[in-house]
Amino acid sequence: MKKLLPTSTVGSLPKPAWLAPPEKLWSPWKLEGDQLLEGKQDALRVSFHEQQLAGIDIISDGEQTRQHFVTTFIEHLSGVDFKNRKTVKIRNRYDASVPVVVSEVSRQKAVFVDDAKFLRKQTNKPIKWALPGPMTMVDTLYDNHYKSREKLAWEFAKALNEEARELQDAGVDIIQFDEPAFNVFFDEVNDWGMAVLERAIEGLNCETALHICYGYGIKANTDWKKTLGSEWRQYEDIFPKIQNSSIDMVSLECHNSHVPFNLIELLRGKKVMIGAIDVATNKIETPEEVANTIRKALEFVDVENLYPSTNCGMAPLSRDVAGGKLSALSAGAKIIRKELGI
Ligand SMILES: [Zn+2]
Repeated sequence: MKKLLPTSTVGSLPKPAWLAPPEKLWSPWKLEGDQLLEGKQDALRVSFHEQQLAGIDIISDGEQTRQHFVTTFIEHLSGVDFKNRKTVKIRNRYDASVPVVVSEVSRQKAVFVDDAKFLRKQTNKPIKWALPGPMTMVDTLYDNHYKSREKLAWEFAKALNEEARELQDAGVDIIQFDEPAFNVFFDEVNDWGMAVLERAIEGLNCETALHICYGYGIKANTDWKKTLGSEWRQYEDIFPKIQNSSIDMVSLECHNSHVPFNLIELLRGKKVMIGAIDVATNKIETPEEVANTIRKALEFVDVENLYPSTNCGMAPLSRDVAGGKLSALSAGAKIIRKELGI
């Protein structure tokens, strides 16, 4: 029988310090050339092992082979200038120095396919691979060519679809698109964001997931969250569109957030990865806290559709804290399985 309430992470996990300095985003690699390649594979092994030990059911790559969840994918595309950068405001929130689109973008080579084949060899458990969503990609660079966010997004969707099909062929069970931008640009989501995402998943037979969150636990994000008031209803604007889409699974931020749980009802019928771990604090959840979040979510999601997970990636955390949170996640899910006798 299929195990119910299978646990997973949203994606990123801390990297070992010998590979990249810990607890920061865009952390530079410490190795080069063949050593870097080998180092990344070793980090994948370690990350898999840590998830396995913690009892995580759906294994991710921990994003060990990428520097950043968006820019690493963009680096592999032609038409983007990484040397002459420009500063833009990401998600209307914080400045970042980003690459510039200078001509037609296209995917010349596979980005993560070899890494996925490597991870596939390590385990028989289901594996999940995260890719950036087209809208979030558009929002993480400066466009000097298409001069239209929508047009550029369609090009990215084409490239993402090529990558996703190869990841599927490499044995990936779930392909997840990270779209934190969906929580900011509601009108665009409804105008073209979902349509573009449908293009990215076109022809896939594996499961597809969409991750929408309030961002990593970095200061710019936690400051922004303080301005959102006591009830975060952002999801309300976009859930109906997602509910009507062919995306199989939606990954949400819940624990310690001010998202009203009843909004999840708007997704009824979809699989829901519920964020039961807060990635913006070093405090490790107790299994009972995790169980509480799952219990609340079960009022709005059928048990066979519920996937306990983290609120977002854990890349900026220390390895100890992330490891503790992984164990709490699986212990929390276990409490509920026992309670329900499943
Ligand atoms: Zn996230």
